[in-house]
Amino acid sequence: MSNGNYDLILAGGRVLDPGSGLDQVGDIGISGGKIVEIGGSLDAASAGQVVDVSGKIVAPGLIDLHTHVAGGIGKVIDETSFANADQVGVHGGVTTVVDAGSTGSYNVGGMINHVIPRSKTRIFVFINAGILGIHRIPEIRDASDIDIDHAIATIQASEHIRGVKVRMVSPSVQSMGAELARKAKQIASGAGVPVMVHIGDIPDDHPKAGEAAKVLLSEILTEGDIVTHTCSHHVGALLDNGKLRPEALEAKERGVIFDVGVGRANFSFDSAKAIMDQGITPHTISSDVTAAGRYSLAFGLIESMNKFLTLGFSVEDVTRMTTTNSATSLGESGNLGALAVGREADISVLDTVQGSFIHHDAAGGSNTGDRAIVPVFTVRAGEVQPLDPGPHPWGWAPESA
Ligand SMILES: [Zn+2]
Repeated sequence: MSNGNYDLILAGGRVLDPGSGLDQVGDIGISGGKIVEIGGSLDAASAGQVVDVSGKIVAPGLIDLHTHVAGGIGKVIDETSFANADQVGVHGGVTTVVDAGSTGSYNVGGMINHVIPRSKTRIFVFINAGILGIHRIPEIRDASDIDIDHAIATIQASEHIRGVKVRMVSPSVQSMGAELARKAKQIASGAGVPVMVHIGDIPDDHPKAGEAAKVLLSEILTEGDIVTHTCSHHVGALLDNGKLRPEALEAKERGVIFDVGVGRANFSFDSAKAIMDQGITPHTISSDVTAAGRYSLAFGLIESMNKFLTLGFSVEDVTRMTTTNSATSLGESGNLGALAVGREADISVLDTVQGSFIHHDAAGGSNTGDRAIVPVFTVRAGEVQPLDPGPHPWGWAPESA
């Protein structure tokens, strides 16, 4: 098999696929956009291109389950919400992103007809329960900003749309309470897709916030639905005065997925530690990266993974949480999140660096660690995609402590 013709060989890397348990040094052969050979030493003379990745990690293409990549269809100036898909995607070490509710059923055409066809990054869309998504915040002032039938029909009309996103935030929760999540779930159930719920993020201690979180976790979410901002310190999230809501454990039992969604406002190290101590370990890591978040606090998926390295997770753990776990959450485990012969060649080549790194969180806290993952390049559908200069003035490594 090793004398085939390859378009590309990634030579001599540490091939790491935590989902399948693969962890060995060897080559990967790619032809026609697909992985055709894994392991051993392939015949370089028969390859169009050989890239030496010795000393690097060769992982399944990373999947960022929560981003905002509607860049280009929002504001011409002062855009803070919508990032450029390829900047945070293939040029940021990530081959697949989920846009989590940037648009709703009345304007998701911008994603489907313009952003997705122009992007090299694979993009899935969760439409916002609010008809216009976060083009206008608040996206849901009352029930008149939700069109359930139209949203269901829209999801059914596009293979790119894989779920529904709803933000349980003020002022939406003040006006609708748990009914907000119930309507989003109605859309998701009607279309046969999961709902992703942004929990918490309510600036004032509003009486409806805790109640809405309780009803959400105990009654509304079902197996495969996704809670994002698991490590949020805000009122209305998983912690109630430092104590994990018992309904969160019930939701976990039912198969609800807990995602991170670092972002600029919804991640705290103290909350992360408290939540994990009390029985919830996030299933997936995501960045919630936006145009502004790309340059502060969130930075991107790989820096979000690095935050978990400082919490004691291993490189294998955080790779699992951004490959096989994310793929399973999307119902794509048969296609994405693994290195396997016959699959489309979506690959993230990574490196680890030593140093003294500090990560800041949205609650004013920080955590430090002595190593970090940095991207090297990606391969998307068999094509090498170079890195962009990175989210920091100095590049990709986190801030030095
Ligand atoms: Zn978000």
